[in-house]
Amino acid sequence: TQLQDEEKSKEYLDELEFLAYTAGGEVLKRFVQKMNIPNPKTFIGKGKMEEVQQFVEANNIDTVVFDDELSPGQQKNIQKILDCKIIDRTNLILDIFAQRAQTSNARTQVELAQYEYLLPRLAGMWTHLERQRGGIGMRGPGETEIETDRRIVRDRIALLKKKLTKIDRQMEVQRGNRGSLVRVALVGYTNVGKSTLMNVISKSEVFAENKLFATLDTTVRKVVIGNLPFLLTDTVGFIRKLPTQLVESFKGTLDEVRESDLLLHVVDISHPSFEDHIASVNKILDEIDGVDKPMLMVFNKIDAYVPETIDDDDLVTEKTKAHYSLTDWKKTWMSRMDGDAVFISALNKENFEEFRKVVYDKVKEIHVARFPYNN
Ligand code: GDP
Repeated sequence: TQLQDEEKSKEYLDELEFLAYTAGGEVLKRFVQKMNIPNPKTFIGKGKMEEVQQFVEANNIDTVVFDDELSPGQQKNIQKILDCKIIDRTNLILDIFAQRAQTSNARTQVELAQYEYLLPRLAGMWTHLERQRGGIGMRGPGETEIETDRRIVRDRIALLKKKLTKIDRQMEVQRGNRGSLVRVALVGYTNVGKSTLMNVISKSEVFAENKLFATLDTTVRKVVIGNLPFLLTDTVGFIRKLPTQLVESFKGTLDEVRESDLLLHVVDISHPSFEDHIASVNKILDEIDGVDKPMLMVFNKIDAYVPETIDDDDLVTEKTKAHYSLTDWKKTWMSRMDGDAVFISALNKENFEEFRKVVYDKVKEIHVARFPYNN
């Protein structure tokens, strides 16, 4: 229905604005256009484009962000019309990952993803590359600028891939050296509280802030609950429409997930679209064959959960779901997950004992199955 569409597009733009803010930008205005099929040349229609153009000129805007991935052609055409920097969602996400990559592994992976994104878009931006590489002597006879640039970028991609294979092998060895301890991985949509939870469980200081993608590199900590030691890994945040370039290049990082024995799927239940987030995460897990692992759903931020109140004369729509109480959600998910769901607040440590107990039981179960004679 129209109401639902409007809500969805507001949520998507909220998220895009949050991404832009994370990347260091400030959003002055949002534009929405309803279209069944995007304009093949300019993505949005002519009238809307004029509206945007007027705003860009009047306010000296330097960047316009689109929520979908633009084709190289669209990006070029729009840039011509608006005469400012045009960024799409993929571009923005890659930018944030680049800003936050801390280890050489993460930096290499992001750089690879950026070059893969750049390759089909070179046609519009060769002058920029020309400046960077310093030119002279790089061109073979008869080659065009763009072909030369493509070759440079392809060489760079090949080099980065080689470097990553080496890093992957090192990481594999490292993982192998961790012995037979049970491995638990925190997964979940970005900003749901994975780092916070990691902090509380392992009493370590993992960087947590209210921005998207605070976590880029995997952190592994040894944790002991009761007398039971296990390894806990914090993984990259998953997000709706994760750029495909990143899914592939973060394979190494996602190997942590693939090789873990238990997944703690953390969910921000205070977020209105938390069910969509669950679906996005499951989709990515599906792509890396991580769906079949034992999984515990950890519904976080119960302190911030507000059941929506609906007036009596409101139409009963899909939204009725939203005024479920926490108890209702608990019932629903307990039955859906066959008991494997806990509801906590990592911030206030609400229900933390129950959480520790559930994790302990799960880890113990795996541990006992692995060492049947030592217990
Ligand atoms: P990550 O991206 O999943 O690692 O999320 P973070 O751990 O960085 O947390 C994102 C934001 O959510 C931070 O501002 C946290 O302080 C906040 N947060 C984490 N847990 C809770 C919680 O239980 N309740 C509330 N209200 N906020 C939380």
